[in-house]
Amino acid sequence: MKSQTKPLLEIWKWQADAACRGMDSSVFFSPTGERGAARRRREEAARAICGSCPVSSACDLFAKASRQAYGVWGGRTEAERREKAQDVRRH
Ligand code: SF4
Repeated sequence: MKSQTKPLLEIWKWQADAACRGMDSSVFFSPTGERGAARRRREEAARAICGSCPVSSACDLFAKASRQAYGVWGGRTEAERREKAQDVRRH
């Protein structure tokens, strides 16, 4: 019987080429209570990094598949991922 599981390295290898590799995760994840302009500025900074990332598609797919509730992944904010998921459910 053939194994249904993939080696972990294969699942995660896209992260080796991530533009955010080694960066402080606080750019991508909001601190408790962050709102308004501070949130928008941090998310734009994260999106700018994602915009030059060679693995942004893989990151976006991973975030959707694993239902990441928080943070900017693949250039999308958590609010954008929620909206996209709702659009998909509506149609
Ligand atoms: S798309 Fe953004 S969050 Fe995802 S790996 Fe690239 S830089 Fe990091």
